[in-house]
Amino acid sequence: MNQKSIPYGFQTIEEDDIAAVVEVLKSDYLTTGPKVGEFETALSNYVETKHAVAVNSGTSALDMAVGALELEAGSEIITTPFTFVASANCALYNNCKPVFADIDKRTYNIDPNQIRKKITKKTKAIIYVDYAGQPCSIDEIKEIAQEHDLYLIEDACHALGAEYKGKKIGSFADMTVFSFHPVKHITTGEGGAVTTNNEEFYQKLKLLRNHGIDKTPGERVGYGYDMKMLGRNYRITDFQCALGISQLKKMDLFLKRRKEIAKVYNDELKGIFGVMTPYVAPTVRHAWHLYPVLVDKKITTRDTFFERMRANAIGVNVHYIPIYRFTYYSRFGFKSADYPNTEDISSSIVSLPMFPKLTDRELECVVEAVRKSLVK
Ligand SMILES: *Cc1c(COP(=O)(O)O)cnc(C)c1O
Repeated sequence: MNQKSIPYGFQTIEEDDIAAVVEVLKSDYLTTGPKVGEFETALSNYVETKHAVAVNSGTSALDMAVGALELEAGSEIITTPFTFVASANCALYNNCKPVFADIDKRTYNIDPNQIRKKITKKTKAIIYVDYAGQPCSIDEIKEIAQEHDLYLIEDACHALGAEYKGKKIGSFADMTVFSFHPVKHITTGEGGAVTTNNEEFYQKLKLLRNHGIDKTPGERVGYGYDMKMLGRNYRITDFQCALGISQLKKMDLFLKRRKEIAKVYNDELKGIFGVMTPYVAPTVRHAWHLYPVLVDKKITTRDTFFERMRANAIGVNVHYIPIYRFTYYSRFGFKSADYPNTEDISSSIVSLPMFPKLTDRELECVVEAVRKSLVK
């Protein structure tokens, strides 16, 4: 088969996106210009949150969000092991310890009851991830945070446009993190942002994006600028922000198409034996970053299914390998047996192609390949 394979995720870039970028390239500001603020305003309006700070990646956004908490070294941050590595690495960057809590078997999101079991005197924050675009049990997580005086960071890299109990994701946690990598809902090439309603965190995030530099001279340095926190250079360029502004205008169309695709999969796969479609909680509006299915081990192994799909030119993927399984994480001594749900789900899950440009014809090919791949 020489046919180009269908990827699991892909950007939608149109002529108006390109024109918006080119316009900035011809202007005076490639970086730290007016497009950054414009993009931040558009994003904060979209997610109905007071402030947004745009940066060069979702990973940088996570690092800054943890940094803005200014936690003591050795503080523990509870998160899910069933996510991209950046959700836990951000604790390590800030001299904190990631602590994993097992996931819920139906939503694949962190289980609030498991969070409770992991709380110690050193626990200072929870980073919850809206897996595949489905918001977590936010009310339950907030209740735990209030009881134990913990900060909340929402890793919403999958969940731009998602809703929980009728309200957009963006302001439930102290800070919410988004990514604009090409496979995500909108793209700036590389890029990310933190949104918050908290004025103090907002000021710190702006410092952390730019070396911790404050342009208003402090008491210690009477002229020029002062450096107040240990920040890095996480700035995003103006041409990236121009792309972001252009992309954000199409968010509703993008979401609509993702939802349509999910419906086709739900309807078509229902009749196929050996594959389980994703559960959607009644309290959420799913943003469908991913469309993950579970393969029934009694029919075929996930790995065989995966190979067969790839042989049929369908670019399936596994989201995710549990973080505690990675070589770097072996030093922390996490035990797979402590995360039975994560083990079970991660060993049978496969992401099918899901992106707005996926055509009806391609969708048919994916469904047909699933059918053919589910034999003993
Ligand atoms: C994509 C992603 C990130 C990191 O975003 P980048 O922009 O690639 O740095 C973090 N967490 C999750 C859950 C993601 O999917």
